[in-house]
Amino acid sequence: MPIAVQSFGSGSSGNALLVESSETLILIDCGLAPRSLAAALAASGRSLGDLDAVLLTHEHVDHMRALSGLARAGVTVVCTAGTARSAAVASERWEEIRPATELRLGDLAIEALPVSHDAAEPCGFTLSADGVRVTVATDLGRADAALHGVVAVSDLVVLEANHDEEMLRRGPYPARTKRRVLSDLGHLSNDASGALLAASFVGTRRLPTVWLAHLSQTNNRPELARQAVARALAARDQVAPILPLPRREVGPVWRSNGQPVTPIQLAMGL
Ligand SMILES: [Zn+2]
Ligand SMILES: [Zn+2]
Repeated sequence: MPIAVQSFGSGSSGNALLVESSETLILIDCGLAPRSLAAALAASGRSLGDLDAVLLTHEHVDHMRALSGLARAGVTVVCTAGTARSAAVASERWEEIRPATELRLGDLAIEALPVSHDAAEPCGFTLSADGVRVTVATDLGRADAALHGVVAVSDLVVLEANHDEEMLRRGPYPARTKRRVLSDLGHLSNDASGALLAASFVGTRRLPTVWLAHLSQTNNRPELARQAVARALAARDQVAPILPLPRREVGPVWRSNGQPVTPIQLAMGL
């Protein structure tokens, strides 16, 4: 069966992506409140015990709010050494992932992609199975060139488009917070996200589906993010399906064979 991906929430109120391949069911991040995460899994016909692992991008609370519940349910935590230390992951539950070293979970091959962010050892992930690739990068202060290669060969890209720079600069955040968000250790703006994608896609014939993630409630609007990225792509004659992810609601299911499915079908493995 192809890879299926669903967002359970995206942004400072909580991040979690469910990824399913033929043999493997994982979460990338578990930042929802435990009850919300359990409800989202249940709506997909799943429970914590069905998960083979949770992949943690970094230790900020919006990415690991439900971690202790997952650990209690015996779910393996895959993350870098720095994240494991900062998130106090119990050693018996921890599986280390190192950048540029492939980790296999069933039929899923996983690589960590180091990113620039104010956490101990943050990363994105690129996952592949059956010739299908999904790349996820949220919480990054700048668009490192290393991301371009994997983005170009992905079928689904989940990339941060955190803020509209103008809204952030004029908005209500304290100056210190604005500086942090705008810094290389902060978050990717809509324009920076579009620039990264457009640069990555040069020479690529079939563009991936793009999900825009981690949108700020205060400093962004879904339509602004979508337009900024579409504009950056259009400047290079590129067209890709672009979807800003809902912040608090469960998002649609992406399936590598292109067929839209309901969460119930996903749960039944159809
Ligand atoms: Zn975050
Ligand atoms: Zn963060």
